Amino acid sequence: MFCNLCMYFELLKEKRYKSSWDKLQDCIDLAKMVGSYIEIENRLEISKVLHLLSSYETLYPYSVFASSEYIISKSHCSICGQSMLSLSCQHIKGKLYWGEVAVEMIDEIKTFQAVALVSHPEDKRCVIELSDDNRTEVKKFKRIDQFLELNQPFLQDFSIKKIIENRMRDDIKIVGRNDPCSCGTGVKFKKCCGKDLYYKHERNIITPLQTVSMIKL
Ligand SMILES: [Zn+2]
Ligand SMILES: [Zn+2]
Repeated sequence: MFCNLCMYFELLKEKRYKSSWDKLQDCIDLAKMVGSYIEIENRLEISKVLHLLSSYETLYPYSVFASSEYIISKSHCSICGQSMLSLSCQHIKGKLYWGEVAVEMIDEIKTFQAVALVSHPEDKRCVIELSDDNRTEVKKFKRIDQFLELNQPFLQDFSIKKIIENRMRDDIKIVGRNDPCSCGTGVKFKKCCGKDLYYKHERNIITPLQTVSMIKL
């Protein structure tokens, strides 16, 4: 988990935002897994780490994910390498064996039964990007940039407040309300470009909260 956290912060520093999302999901999965072992949880502040990681999620422009249902035709146990359904594998999914978690490794998928678009799937790695979202990469990930510009320690909790402001467009030449419009249509300004002088601008205010210490003393 610590390794993955370091790799995540490294990806952020390199501004590789798309790959950082997958790494963030690895961190969340691992923190949840670690959190399921109570003895460790008492020593590590896992719930705080998880809270912090979900704050990081809100920095990304992702809100819709694909969740799929499929039939696995071939899989093996991560501990013994044998099929988890066979009697020779005695391992239980999610349990710890000599410091390693038993997971089902999928080798082959027979059929996909369904793909659904959801906002809170268990696995958020399959991100749906809307085709009419023609903002540039820089604009899409500007919240992360904003956060990084604050130069906060990475293990610092924070909150984001979204503010929608009405801003005046700067591409319209203002003339008198009843004068012919400046765009040259010949229509009165108030009935032409004067109708939508403002646009909605989204501004995010990131407020640092307390620093997360991972280990309780
Ligand atoms: Zn096994
Ligand atoms: Zn006009």
